[in-house]
Amino acid sequence: AHEDSDETTSKKIAFDADAASLLVKNLRESFASGKTHSYEWRLSQLSALSKLFDDHEQQIVDALRNDLAKPPLESVAYEVAMLKNSCSVALKELKYWMTSEKVKTSLATFPSSAEIVSEPLGVVLVISAWNYPFLLSLDPVVGAIAAGNAVVLKPSEIAPASSSLLAKLLGDYMDNSSIRVVEGAVDETSALLQQKWDKIFYTGNGRVGRIVMAAAAKHLTPVVLELGGKSPVVVDSSINLKVAARRIIAGKWGCNNGQACISPDYIITTKDYAPKLVDALKTELEKFYGKNPLESNDLSRIVNSNHFARLTKLLDDNKVSGKIVYGGEKDESKLRISPTILLDVPQDSLIMSEEIFGPLLPILTVDKLEESFHVINAGSKPLAAYIFTTNKKLKEQFVMTISAGGLVVNDTTLHLAVHTLPFGGVGESGVGAYHGKFSFDTFSHKKAVLYRSFLGDAPVRYPPYTNTKQRL
Ligand code: NAD
Repeated sequence: AHEDSDETTSKKIAFDADAASLLVKNLRESFASGKTHSYEWRLSQLSALSKLFDDHEQQIVDALRNDLAKPPLESVAYEVAMLKNSCSVALKELKYWMTSEKVKTSLATFPSSAEIVSEPLGVVLVISAWNYPFLLSLDPVVGAIAAGNAVVLKPSEIAPASSSLLAKLLGDYMDNSSIRVVEGAVDETSALLQQKWDKIFYTGNGRVGRIVMAAAAKHLTPVVLELGGKSPVVVDSSINLKVAARRIIAGKWGCNNGQACISPDYIITTKDYAPKLVDALKTELEKFYGKNPLESNDLSRIVNSNHFARLTKLLDDNKVSGKIVYGGEKDESKLRISPTILLDVPQDSLIMSEEIFGPLLPILTVDKLEESFHVINAGSKPLAAYIFTTNKKLKEQFVMTISAGGLVVNDTTLHLAVHTLPFGGVGESGVGAYHGKFSFDTFSHKKAVLYRSFLGDAPVRYPPYTNTKQRL
């Protein structure tokens, strides 16, 4: 089986629509055999995946170093440990998730009983992004396997060391008759997207999200789109400023140097409070990354020269010239950009018109903090939104009025680590959600089953529809 896997994943052999069609046909046959439905198969594959992380943590850390200069602690904590946790939650809960749910019936069907049976969807496609290449590839795969599907994973070509390690390790550890990796870029993904899938789970930007959804529509295939957006942080003055500053830094620069979908994109605070906030951020940043952050091993680099050029353009926009209050250093040869704060950025600047996805953090200022809610709701719905405050009323207002994929009060990004919370976007930030049981549900069909016996065969539903029956 591993040789087959090498054939389809090798970049030298073209992976075209015919190859994609053959791959799907083979997986459909495997799915139709019923093997992936069994509890034992699901358990064995989840256990194999979990073992893979135990056996190859160092290789994963090295691949992420190659692709992103990702600090080892971030790789272990946010990719390996999170995935191990997903596997262990799924292994622990699988029996319960698979158990059908008995539900009440109505008088109209008396006597009867009913249940909701979770059945696997079939053959599913997972397309993932480069910034957390292991987590974003394998966390959906955990859900797909737990729900009993056959799955094809297409990792991102922008993180090539991680992509090829994923292909190798899944080839070595998993049942390749039902779980496969296809490496490649636009051509290979397009060939995959021409096929009929039972679900497509895509992580990446909204432009490609639209391509995925359009391709899926041809086959009426349901999609999950895990997209991005501009995730705001509202900062009130009633806070422990030092802790807030550290938590903002951890979610921004401590998450792949801002190249994370739920990293704070911009801050909104009041004009009065902004200088204090900037000072606290500067102080903590210097403690974390030293006086020369371009040399810090605790910051990821920018993934490639295209993204470096994109971020440089955001900084060179003349609407933000003179607004840099911290950082702004770049080293193009090493693809490094230092943590950068911009104060009083105009809302019509380039940096405020697209998701930043990098180490630049603009701060907008308002007269009254309540205005920040209007600013946020005037834009596209973000994937995450954060507020730092101890003001109960403000907290409640934020939770009730801000529409975003997820919210965190007095921290950033950590909702991602709570497997009992659904993770996904709303509006432009995505369609559908996953994590924990939500992953299982995302890859399952909830089949409605009603049980009747031959008792109580009420004549009222049968013709002739007499006046007496009509009055009942
Ligand atoms: P990317 O460049 O790795 O692209 C994602 C996937 O789309 C890749 O597998 C790529 O091969 C494929 N692709 C690219 N162009 C394509 C095309 N024309 N047709 C078909 N497939 C194509 O990643 P990206 O888009 O740069 O990722 C960053 C974006 O993803 C940001 O917006 C970020 O917020 C979002 N993101 C969201 C999440 C989440 O969980 N919601 C996680 C990470 C990133």
